[in-house]
Amino acid sequence: MKYADLHVHTFYSDSTFSPEEVLACAHKSGLSGVAICDHDCVDGVEPCVAAAKPYGIEVIAGIELTVEKADAEIHILGYFMDCSREWFRKKLKSMQHARLERIRLMADKLRDAGFKLTVDDIIALAGKGTVGRLHVAQAMLKTGKVRSMFECFNKYIGFLKPCYVSNVKFSPAEAIGMILKAGGVPVLAHPDVTGKDEYIPELVECGLRGIEAYHTEHKEHVVKRYEELAKTYGLLITGGSDCHGLGKGRVLLGGVRVPYTIVEKLREEAQKIKNEYR
Ligand code: AMP
Ligand code: FE
Ligand code: FE
Ligand code: ZN
Repeated sequence: MKYADLHVHTFYSDSTFSPEEVLACAHKSGLSGVAICDHDCVDGVEPCVAAAKPYGIEVIAGIELTVEKADAEIHILGYFMDCSREWFRKKLKSMQHARLERIRLMADKLRDAGFKLTVDDIIALAGKGTVGRLHVAQAMLKTGKVRSMFECFNKYIGFLKPCYVSNVKFSPAEAIGMILKAGGVPVLAHPDVTGKDEYIPELVECGLRGIEAYHTEHKEHVVKRYEELAKTYGLLITGGSDCHGLGKGRVLLGGVRVPYTIVEKLREEAQKIKNEYR
């Protein structure tokens, strides 16, 4: 049987892993495919394609976008986009730029809260691609004022916590529309982590095509609930580990994987979307 992990980050967003490390790890886990889903960035896809050559592993172009509602932050994955489209690349660049401004504001708030850190400390940890809150948390930990990642998010930078600054305000229609227009398949990421199933009908209305039922944070009964919801709304079922290298403590890659039939379904759906949004 062939398997794929459909949710993997690289150091082009907030993983500690280079493309070479991602692919070596995928090979060790016996995977036939990985989808590279960095936050607001597709710059890691081509380097991963190159790093995959010696192993014969398929690299699927993916992305993870953030949608903000008043009471929730929803992540939308995209698969098989045509990343060469000029407008798509330009839009991502502007989102990456906005992330820098957001991190500056968060650094100001954290300094006011007594953290001895600068925005440059955070950016230095981010390296290539996009900067995000996992880098902020790493900079916070380095100051010694907090002990754990949990404390960073729970007390300071988690959604609506005192040092949180929101990202670009993106509506479900905008995020899903952007993926569809680029010929990709929009999929709801880790719905149980978001914990707001009440938004699923609205997302479906906007063109959502799949739901990530299998995820590192999803227990068995949760998986069942999302398999049922997928049936109700006619969505594809996907899954992935959401590996951030060592960014979240331990390497998760390959810990959640799906049979290749799911990859083929996504590929077919992407072809349909490309015909529709030509
Ligand atoms: P950003 O895209 O900058 O908003 O950051 C999103 C990253 O922060 C993702 O990798 C999330 O998994 C991570 N994150 C968000 N909330 C938490 C939390 N409460 N604990 C740990 N990581 C979190
Ligand atoms: Fe992340
Ligand atoms: Fe996510
Ligand atoms: Zn992710």
